[in-house]
Amino acid sequence: MILDLASLYRKGKTEETFYFEYYPETADIGIPNAELVLPVKTEGKVTLTDKGSAVIEGEVVFTVKGCCTRCLAETEKVFVVDINELCDGEAEGPYRVVNDRIDLAKIVDETIVLNIPVSFLCREDCKGLCPVCGENLNDGDCKCIKEGK
Ligand SMILES: [Zn+2]
Ligand SMILES: [Zn+2]
Repeated sequence: MILDLASLYRKGKTEETFYFEYYPETADIGIPNAELVLPVKTEGKVTLTDKGSAVIEGEVVFTVKGCCTRCLAETEKVFVVDINELCDGEAEGPYRVVNDRIDLAKIVDETIVLNIPVSFLCREDCKGLCPVCGENLNDGDCKCIKEGK
């Protein structure tokens, strides 16, 4: 997933679209019982702005599948993250242009890391499991609550 600015110069083009299906080295995202669904997809456009620099615009689409952190229900969520960054020789981290090349894999890796939620919930107001009887409180109050224990 290398965007090669030199090949754009050679073709006399100032912009080019891209689309990649990406298989990161690991589907582990640091959330227990949840992982990335592969491949991750990214598409967009690279536009030359100056010698050795370019703007990348597009989106990274990734899906996380696993168990809700609170109630353990099977959950799948799609994340669509816009990217719009200037890449050049001075840029920080994955946006740095090295030898006229931009490593899109590094950009996608970072985009995923920055957008993974701290807890993975089936819905924002998931009530979780009763700590006493283990019943799923999204299905209604359990006996403990009804009996006021
Ligand atoms: Zn839940
Ligand atoms: Zn209970």
